[in-house]
Amino acid sequence: MREMPGIAVSPAVVIGRAFLLDDIRRPVSSRSINSGEVQNEQARLDEAVEASLAELAELRTRAEEEFGRDAAQIFAFHQGMLMDKTLIDPMRQRIADDHVPAETAVQEQFRIVAEQFARMPDTAFRTKVDDVWDLDHRVLRHLIGEHQNRLADSDTDSVVIASELTPTQTASFRDQGVAGFATDSGGLTSHTAIFARALNIPAVVGCESLVDTARDGDPIIIDGDQGLVIVRPDEETLERYEERARVAAALAASLRETANEPAITTDGVEIELLGNIEYAAEVPTVLEYGGRGVGLFRTEYLWLTSDHEPTEEEQYKAFAESVGSADGLPVTIRTFDLGADKYTQQRAMNPERNPFLGERSIRYCLTNISMFKQHLRAVLRASAIGPLKIMFPLISTMMELRQAKLVLHDVMEDLAEEGIAFDPNVKIGMMVETPAAAIMSTSFAREVDFFSVGTNDLIQYTIAVDRTNERVANLYSGADPAVLRLMKDTIRSARRHEVPVSCCGEVAGDPEYTMLLLGLGFRTLSASPSRLPYVKRVVRSVDINACELLARRAGSLDSERQVTALLRDAARKHFPELFDGRSIESGV
Ligand code: PEP
Ligand code: MG
Repeated sequence: MREMPGIAVSPAVVIGRAFLLDDIRRPVSSRSINSGEVQNEQARLDEAVEASLAELAELRTRAEEEFGRDAAQIFAFHQGMLMDKTLIDPMRQRIADDHVPAETAVQEQFRIVAEQFARMPDTAFRTKVDDVWDLDHRVLRHLIGEHQNRLADSDTDSVVIASELTPTQTASFRDQGVAGFATDSGGLTSHTAIFARALNIPAVVGCESLVDTARDGDPIIIDGDQGLVIVRPDEETLERYEERARVAAALAASLRETANEPAITTDGVEIELLGNIEYAAEVPTVLEYGGRGVGLFRTEYLWLTSDHEPTEEEQYKAFAESVGSADGLPVTIRTFDLGADKYTQQRAMNPERNPFLGERSIRYCLTNISMFKQHLRAVLRASAIGPLKIMFPLISTMMELRQAKLVLHDVMEDLAEEGIAFDPNVKIGMMVETPAAAIMSTSFAREVDFFSVGTNDLIQYTIAVDRTNERVANLYSGADPAVLRLMKDTIRSARRHEVPVSCCGEVAGDPEYTMLLLGLGFRTLSASPSRLPYVKRVVRSVDINACELLARRAGSLDSERQVTALLRDAARKHFPELFDGRSIESGV
């Protein structure tokens, strides 16, 4: 048995079997194969090359038809390379001589070729380096895709183990019946983690050497409450966890029964609980878990789960579906928040040096105006169906907000001219998720209809800690006094200008934070659907005075540890039943 600590990112416990997943962007794990597997690995390589060639032939024909012979040349060049024995034979040889899997042989050989091209004095050759990587990704995608496809056929108790997972990969778990996952890297609010909560499956990230410890098929426990992965558990541990899983299931069932009761504190203050979603299809789940609408639709998932830029019609369909299923309740559509750890296929090929501080989110949209306009057309068209609000992400300067609003108004004019219906009074809001936005919230409040505080990014930018980096995860906390101060300032500005303000970061779904958030003045919280019943239980068992007292005490403390201890003690005192059966160490 091996116990591997990590970061708890999605609660509950799962007991299952390990499924080790390879990763396209990193050297494939250092596993070796035995001599009996050599032929099989060579055959996998051949199949991946053949599949890539077939794909290239199709792309070449299509390019020739649509763009002419010259444009198709690029695919001819790729085909030529892939048919070249001097490229493929060394890969086959490496598998046979060194007993490495096909993925390793492919990655290494393409790296050698790319380096050769990069060293050539002639620039014409140097520019081919990108083509080599493109080809490398194509072949690897077939190898890894074939591997990932096996997941769909695996048992329902499969627990995915990977060095790293992209939000896109995690999204595909939805259809593959994955029971939980654990990764070597990652942080508490990385989008992969957020996706785990959306899927409602236990997950632990930042375990460091899990990929080298677990083997395919190993019995494994993911403890998403305490942030622990147990590989090959002994009998006693297994029994203890089976009991924990039973207690947790009973609590979840009891919470589900009260999910549709009103979210009112004991002294009668009504709290609006909304859901955060990534897909339109999640809206019924929000309602089922007691949410009264959608506070955050992370629309960029339309890109992450597609191999092409989503068309206006595809976008419109998704937004219209969300508004339709919300059945008169409000849906807040956040415009594309691409970049950082949510990148498009094209961006993945050209990584930025510092993507979280780079061309992400509203900045990306404002430099790709035609894409942005098409997006806003789809959103606005859906506003004709029912109550819809538009929210801009990552606003850090007034200029950005004004530009975004200008583009939106341009699109409104276009639609009006074309006679296409939309809501001309649609509410326009912004995320407050940069310190700049929080500090300048009084000015911003004059320009928008609502604020939504995104603590996930606000924490990372305030404390200067990458939200996806396990090495600095100990610094990443919503209980940091600097973050509390910025939230307080934002709420004060919002109240002064009578602008509604909600919280849609992950703290909004953490019952340990609910009293604090209400005490600070939030009356609207938006969280992953499965977290809503927990938050509602807290709301229904506290009064606002106690919450305000707690927020005041938290505000008087100057260390994150003290604030965290205060919140934890209060949570256990006021609603101990939420923590029965788990000695939780989680928290945002
Ligand atoms: C946030 O930053 O708090 C937020 C809700 O947005 P995202 O997690 O998608 O960055
Ligand atoms: Mg954000």
